[in-house]
Amino acid sequence: MDSLITKEEAIKIVTDIICDFFDEEPVEGKATEKDELLLKVNKAIRNNIEKVSAEGKLPKALRISDWGRKEVIYSCPICNTSFTILGNHEKHCHNCGQKINWDVPILLTRQISEDEEKEFIAKLNKELEEKE
Ligand SMILES: [Zn+2]
Repeated sequence: MDSLITKEEAIKIVTDIICDFFDEEPVEGKATEKDELLLKVNKAIRNNIEKVSAEGKLPKALRISDWGRKEVIYSCPICNTSFTILGNHEKHCHNCGQKINWDVPILLTRQISEDEEKEFIAKLNKELEEKE
């Protein structure tokens, strides 16, 4: 998505703004007010973005449960381990420990036939990717 920027881009934008604002001449061996501000902003952006990515990730839709054909079975977005048994009770992946954000459709309002399963799962995963 165009509206999302990476942390490197965020740092570059803020750096440019700060550099335009302060036109101090660099002093040998001495950190200027601008340098200190740049360091602080750089650190804040990195910390903040790392914190966000350490939080829960949406799971990946894997298949439709054979039992009733209304339930989506998910897997870990990092290591692909299936969450067949515990489903959304796995707050963290039992294999790799990734925190999972279960803000996803689990029980569907209609049955998904075997014929449409593949397409349905692909569409759902695309929606989840866009959401994240
Ligand atoms: Zn995992």
